Amino acid sequence: MNKLSHRVRVLQPSATLSISQKARALKAQGRDIVSLSAGEPDFDTPVHIRKAGCAAIESGKTRYTNVDGLPELKDAVIGKFRRDNHLEFTPVQISVAPGGKAILFNALLATLNPGDEVILPTPCWVSTPEIVKFCGAKPVFLPCTAHDGFKLRPEALAAALTSRTRWFILNSPCNPTGAVYSRAELQAFGAILHQYTDVLVLSDDIYEPIRYDGVPFATLAEVVPSLQNRCLTMNGVSKAYAMTGWRIGYAGGPEWLVKGMADIMAQSTSNPSTISQWAAVEALNGPQGFLVDWVKSWQKRRDLVMKALEPVEGLSIIKPEGAFYLFVKCQDCLGKTTTGGRVLHDDIVFAEALLQETGVALVPGTAFHSPGFVRLSFATDEATLIEACNRLALFCQSLKA
Ligand code: PLP
Repeated sequence: MNKLSHRVRVLQPSATLSISQKARALKAQGRDIVSLSAGEPDFDTPVHIRKAGCAAIESGKTRYTNVDGLPELKDAVIGKFRRDNHLEFTPVQISVAPGGKAILFNALLATLNPGDEVILPTPCWVSTPEIVKFCGAKPVFLPCTAHDGFKLRPEALAAALTSRTRWFILNSPCNPTGAVYSRAELQAFGAILHQYTDVLVLSDDIYEPIRYDGVPFATLAEVVPSLQNRCLTMNGVSKAYAMTGWRIGYAGGPEWLVKGMADIMAQSTSNPSTISQWAAVEALNGPQGFLVDWVKSWQKRRDLVMKALEPVEGLSIIKPEGAFYLFVKCQDCLGKTTTGGRVLHDDIVFAEALLQETGVALVPGTAFHSPGFVRLSFATDEATLIEACNRLALFCQSLKA
């Protein structure tokens, strides 16, 4: 008997989680699996942050807090926005939730009605369109090409805006492409959005500090101050501080929206874990130097993988400027047959065959609404990356037309 609601039935299972689960199942059967499918840093949460979590437990900071964040954490978030983004907020404009995903969920649930449209440049993060659908609204996908560096052109945004548009959601640095928007590119969006005063803007900045080759970071509310009264600037500690399991995300935006998000939390999750909130206070206020070393090592790994895969016939890659993913075009391998006799009809079969025949787990581009690609995470050690690249190269070389 299946009594699931219509609301739940529209949700696609997360392709990232499903490939990771398949990889784990094969590993449990004794197969030699190399998984590059996870979306999280391979480093541990820094010691000073862990200690802050332990100290919270030891000192009895284990009770409910304000629904949308401890005053101390809201202050730390205000300080972070001031320090890094030159944005000014008061505590009533700050929302803290159990993860960036929860921020996105609460913001969309608080504002979307059936028939509303949400503009999403693709490739996009797997969860964003599913949350839009869950809220009864319609994702409007704007495909961005590798030729444009996977970035949205302003004229495409202008053409997609309608009276039904409720949100424009931008993610930079982008999961899965690593594309980073410049100030000038954001200003061009601002010039268009200026005329659409009913449209809200969500800037998903969760990968903010993970950028390479000195590429600068900019966020919409900072670059286009006239958008500040309708922009939600979202961030979190998962990627920047290797705290994916602690579940803390945060955002700054208009008071009425933050209040609506708190109303949802008050009747659903209540506050995010008190212990995690104290750890997040330390993450945002404490030393930030370790990030420099992390970024250096991810950049080295990015370069290593690019060097290994660039000569492989059938694959093509654009150098990511941020995040820790390569979005690899595998279109030229499609239609061919593997040594195991599988015909690679699409990127989903490509990823499936690669996992079954070589033990390498990647995420198909279809999960990010961009067929013909696979996503590879380079947030893992160099030996694992070299092994995965060797197997992937052999797999592609052995395909028969
Ligand atoms: N936004 C993007 C683009 C992501 O890739 C993720 C996580 O994978 C999130 C938001 C949410 O992260 P979390 O819920 O762990 O804070």
